[in-house]
Amino acid sequence: MTEHKHQHNQKDPACLEVFAKLSEYLDGELDRLECDHIEEHIADCPPCVEFLRGLKRCVETSREFEGQGNCPKMPPEMEEKLREAWQNALKRRENAH
Ligand SMILES: [Zn+2]
Repeated sequence: MTEHKHQHNQKDPACLEVFAKLSEYLDGELDRLECDHIEEHIADCPPCVEFLRGLKRCVETSREFEGQGNCPKMPPEMEEKLREAWQNALKRRENAH
């Protein structure tokens, strides 16, 4: 594997775990405990929040420039769940302070 210096922040094993489970999470396939685990992680992890924000921006951009974006497309249903999850995470983050 080639190492690049300009890596994204998502190198944290905990973050990778979250990303690996994100689609299952968004599909509602994880149990309550794993959902909590993911939400708590995101709420306390700026790179993950940034990731979700970026993902959301990608969705919006690819909608405007249909077929031209480098971002993966996401069904509206999934986007809505993502937004919901993200806002929940932010809410928990606010409550924690
Ligand atoms: Zn993270």
